[in-house]
Amino acid sequence: MKTKNLSILGSTGSIGTQSLETARKCGYSVSALSAYSNVDLIEKQIREFKPSVAALVDENAAKELKNRVSDTNTRVLSGLSGVCECASQDGADTVINAVVGMAGLRPTLTAIECGKKIALANKETLVAGGQLVTRKARENKVDILPVDSEHSAIFQCLQGQPSNRALKKIILTASGGPFFGKTKDELSKVTVADALKHPNWSMGQKITVDSATMMNKGLELIEAVWLFSVSPEKVEIVVHRESIIHSMVEYDDNAVIAQLGLPDMKIPIQYALTYPERIESLTGELDLTKLGTLTFYKPDYDTFRCMTVCREAITRGGLYPAYANSANEQANLMFRKGEIGFLDIGELVERVMNEAPNVTEYSADDIDEADSEARRLVLKYAKKR
Ligand code: NAD
Ligand code: MG
Repeated sequence: MKTKNLSILGSTGSIGTQSLETARKCGYSVSALSAYSNVDLIEKQIREFKPSVAALVDENAAKELKNRVSDTNTRVLSGLSGVCECASQDGADTVINAVVGMAGLRPTLTAIECGKKIALANKETLVAGGQLVTRKARENKVDILPVDSEHSAIFQCLQGQPSNRALKKIILTASGGPFFGKTKDELSKVTVADALKHPNWSMGQKITVDSATMMNKGLELIEAVWLFSVSPEKVEIVVHRESIIHSMVEYDDNAVIAQLGLPDMKIPIQYALTYPERIESLTGELDLTKLGTLTFYKPDYDTFRCMTVCREAITRGGLYPAYANSANEQANLMFRKGEIGFLDIGELVERVMNEAPNVTEYSADDIDEADSEARRLVLKYAKKR
């Protein structure tokens, strides 16, 4: 297999560190690393992987890092421009975008403009700017390979798809998160610690709370619409508590193809890097007889409003998904800081999504403006409570 040279954005996070484990195992080179402010961890990563360039968004942290690694050949940069420079690093053929949130948008656009292959974990980029990102990727003939486990599963199930597509629907599976089956009344009393206890996956805090509100599944519905060019009605969400079937596709002849595996992100990360080939994995084998039973349920759209709001946002199109996404980023953060309750997240996301301007085309600047406005509205409405 051809060796790869990677630029890993968000290298200190859950997906970033698992990407580095994969790079270590596959013997891939790493020519750029970026993160927000974790000096200790990125220093260790620089010493092991010896990238040409590394960036920290936080200016003070970047200064500190520069001092610490002055004995190495790694150039240290700062700010969003530093992250974008990592995304355009000459040596790298593939950019893994594992940044959390809308902050990943500009680096993704930069990588596309430089013709890099993109392994995309940063779903917020596609949710907020799907039209722009997919159009630019087509224009620059750049492949966007999904890292999100459900989308990797769908992508795998679509291999060998007939030329007439014949795709009836996508069945997007959801674990249901820590609050599956709870009523609104019960949810009004849950704490941040409760929301951070995911039954099957160990992930960054933002996505873990998104899994508790089911916003994550709403974001993934929008992500699927853009990645696989399907209309939102063709994406059905099914709760599957065990997270063993990572998603399915149903063809016109009613044949359903599923992808299964242990819930371990190293499988989809590796596939995004080795596609179309497959190699041995660091992850254990699936033993179906140990599991015995797999269960499936209809999602509760009324209690978990975020899913409904995302479906509505992508059906309306334009900047509605960007508003829903940024409102959620703000509300999710406020919940984690103890400033609002759990159910407030869905209410704020719904209210703010409805205030998006009705446009059909948008630029990257329009998305940034939508981001600021949606966050401002969340702060305003949260204060009135
Ligand atoms: P995380 O919080 O563990 O890591 C985020 C990384 O992004 C860190 O390296 C952090 O330093 C960096 N970062 C944070 N803010 C930034 C900013 N403003 N600019 C640049 N870099 C910034 O998050 P994670 O769980 O690894 O998730 C990363 C992305 O992958 C998210 O979009 C998430 O939805 C997606 N994803 C994660 C998982 C998972 O298992 N963790 C699964 C599927 C998809
Ligand atoms: Mg997922």
